[in-house]
Amino acid sequence: MPRLEFQLEKTATGSRARAARFRTLHNEVLTPLFMPVGTHATVRGQRFDSILDSGSQVLLANTYHLLLRPGVEVFEKFKGLHNFMQWPRSVLTDSGGFQIFAMPNDRSMSEEGAKFLSYVDGKHILLTPEKSIETQKAIGSDIMMVLDQCVPSTVDKAEARAAMELSNRWALRSLAARGDSPQSMFAIVQGACYQKLRKESAAFLTAHPFDGFALGGLAVGESKQQREDTVEFAAALLPENLPRYLMGVGTPIDLLEAVHRGMDMFDCIIPTAHAEQGVAYTWKGKILLRRGVYKMSEEPIDRSCTCIACKQYSRAYLHHLIKTGEPLGRQLVGAHNIHFYHNLMSAMRLHILADTFAAFYASTREQLVASDGENPIKAPRVRENTKPMELGDYEVVVSGTGISRIRHMSSGETMHPVITPEQEAQELYVNQSRLLERAATQENLVLWDVGMGACANVMAAIKTFEEASAVGKTKARLHVISFEHDLDSLRLAIQHTDRFQYLRHGGPSSILETGEWASKKHSVEWKLMTGNFLELLEEALPPDIIFWDPYSTKTCRDFWCVENLKRIFDHAAERETPGATEFFTYSASTAVRASFLAAGFHVAQGQATGFKGQTTVALTEGALPWRRDTLLGKEWLERWERSDARFPLSLSGENETDLLEKVRLHPQFVTIH
Ligand SMILES: [Zn+2]
Repeated sequence: MPRLEFQLEKTATGSRARAARFRTLHNEVLTPLFMPVGTHATVRGQRFDSILDSGSQVLLANTYHLLLRPGVEVFEKFKGLHNFMQWPRSVLTDSGGFQIFAMPNDRSMSEEGAKFLSYVDGKHILLTPEKSIETQKAIGSDIMMVLDQCVPSTVDKAEARAAMELSNRWALRSLAARGDSPQSMFAIVQGACYQKLRKESAAFLTAHPFDGFALGGLAVGESKQQREDTVEFAAALLPENLPRYLMGVGTPIDLLEAVHRGMDMFDCIIPTAHAEQGVAYTWKGKILLRRGVYKMSEEPIDRSCTCIACKQYSRAYLHHLIKTGEPLGRQLVGAHNIHFYHNLMSAMRLHILADTFAAFYASTREQLVASDGENPIKAPRVRENTKPMELGDYEVVVSGTGISRIRHMSSGETMHPVITPEQEAQELYVNQSRLLERAATQENLVLWDVGMGACANVMAAIKTFEEASAVGKTKARLHVISFEHDLDSLRLAIQHTDRFQYLRHGGPSSILETGEWASKKHSVEWKLMTGNFLELLEEALPPDIIFWDPYSTKTCRDFWCVENLKRIFDHAAERETPGATEFFTYSASTAVRASFLAAGFHVAQGQATGFKGQTTVALTEGALPWRRDTLLGKEWLERWERSDARFPLSLSGENETDLLEKVRLHPQFVTIH
């Protein structure tokens, strides 16, 4: 007998969005539902009266943290968390699986459970499914989660399968440990971004009497598109008549997209975590309250909002609190964000019930992703930037569609010519490099940024990393080493931050002034090596990831030659924990690929960007498991044999036949059948 009296009220026409209600041990819950995160039995910086007023129905609490502090004995004495924290509505507890995942270096996994060191007293703790459920029982949550093994969402299939199968076995042990407790229990469908695995996991788990189902292992490294596709596919595998919970997601637009695909419940720390940086979410997108344009603003964050921050305070006051780091600033902005998230959920619910959701979805999507950083909402006055558009050998060029780029005048080459610099940096370099996924499993990550130019690539990487760090999704240190001999392109771009907005960050100006920048908070170090890369490369820490964005082979031939690529290959082998170095570059030319192969790298097809059909990934052996599906195969070799650009780029005119043999006999082609 299911413990929640779940009732599906309506499914929208033209969408899979659902409205439902169910009853927990404490209250009736209406969906779509957002659950604020109360890690340590408190939603950081918020008072419960404000949370209750804003309409929170369920709070999420973290079993892992509460187990370590205050400890089970406290919950036993107080007869549960509700009484301890004086919270009258529902509580959902996670199982600790995600936190174990987030500290890959300090724990060991076995069939029995996960063993780790307590950050409170340094003692060894074995978290088994039984121990997790025993703790959740003592906490007395309305909804318990099974213990699962979370892996980065883009791991290879074998690893994803092993984690999924272990999670399935742990789910049954969790269910048995629940016994006849009146608390509900949700199972977690795993399987990363592999549809086959998601299907198997769902088929296995839905055959058992769980009270609801969650999708786990998302928002941990995959792209937005992969996430949406996985949610769409997996949501359809879950029973109609039980709640569906998407764990750890996300921004307002993420919630809208996931509700549209059939999910009911969500939790995320973004509303309060981003509030600390002064980010306020509204129906017109996000407002970055740190921006100077708000210094004099008498307006509230959102005139239509009824939260305490909007009823009483101006943007100017909030801007001031955030700038001075006052706790009241994050409290007020956090209260607004939680209020807004709940408003968004109830608006979705009303539209589903009125069967107008599809139109609501279409009209709201674009607005939610807007940001005042791109489109000033109320700048006091717009000053025309009169700085010259040229510096040294560089000029700013503006396309017909208004996109600004930097052009190197003597070679005629334009940086990021295909799509916008930010987009290309994100798609071709950051997303493809699996930066966050590697940061989840490696303590130190070394990134080479070759051809720094106007910093589009490196800033995309640093911002991505900082965002993940702000929400606790990485514990790694990121070491960025940029190589550039001519800093004029950056100097020019920095005079035009109205056109190159990604440069509005402390890093680039510090790099220009001192050659380095660091963020203690997010564990990022960034160093510039000025001069000719080819003279400097052996002095730099060996890389894990290389963003390879020098000028083309025509302008900058030396960079692409076998001899120099071979030096990088040899230097990469010096990495403390060597084995997995990956090169990302925009070129897909036959001669360039042949040069990488002759230098010893394996070569895979890189993702397309804009109208560019292909790019290239070169990799050392340790990275093979991630690229098996895209490695160049026999067909490429056959095309190469027929090509007139067969000869790898070489400086010394090394024996032509030898070089051709190195390509032909590369293990990549020998082992592929
Ligand atoms: Zn408000």
